[in-house]
Amino acid sequence: MPTLRVLSLYPELMNIYADRGNIAVLRARCEWRGLGFEHAATSLGESLDPDVHDLFYMGGGQDRDQAAVAHDMAETKRDALHSAADRGAVVLAVCGGYQLLGHSYEMEGEELPGVGLVDLRTIREPGERLIGNCAIEADLGSGPRVIAGFENHGGRTYLGPDEHALGRVLSGHGNNGKDGFEGVLRGNVIGTYLHGPLLPKNVWLADRLIELALGLDLERLPGDDMEDAAHASARRAAGV
Ligand code: GLN
Repeated sequence: MPTLRVLSLYPELMNIYADRGNIAVLRARCEWRGLGFEHAATSLGESLDPDVHDLFYMGGGQDRDQAAVAHDMAETKRDALHSAADRGAVVLAVCGGYQLLGHSYEMEGEELPGVGLVDLRTIREPGERLIGNCAIEADLGSGPRVIAGFENHGGRTYLGPDEHALGRVLSGHGNNGKDGFEGVLRGNVIGTYLHGPLLPKNVWLADRLIELALGLDLERLPGDDMEDAAHASARRAAGV
């Protein structure tokens, strides 16, 4: 029986807005299909093996927790994350975790290193935090779909010229409130500002990540009430 092996990075530090709910959804979607599910965690000072997990996950966090995580991740996990991404493992990072996938997160008076899995920079610019419900249209190889979520970030993220966003903003702010794009998608590396948590509101995305991580086509399961409600209100807000 195929088993999805998930590694959470810094779950005790990077878990704002109940982002750990994403793990619960991955587990449930696997178990409902009779797939195996294994979950492990890694944190400060620990190295990681790039070959024994199918999906690497990191949630969002406050600036002060990100500072501890950023330095540790660059020192102890950067190379392994690059090897894992190169062999096609799924990397999913939300908000504070997303910011640390790039080159740097520039805060007032301090620049945090990222692991450089994707070409992007995040800058804390003067101005309001970008807060509110957000809906985007994304295509992870199975046709365009809506991802609905909630964003709350002070950092503004700018993608390099050859990098692709995860989606086009239908409503909300997205990466920087200016260019109309949200998140990043490079191979199976996905970064997004969307909490919710993300996967309970978008179970189609959880299923797609399982497919990508295991190289499987999953049979469909019946619809999900929370996803339906989140998508209906996102469509209303976006007027689509
Ligand atoms: N601390 C980061 C910011 O404000 C990320 C916040 C979050 O993960 N919600 O930009």
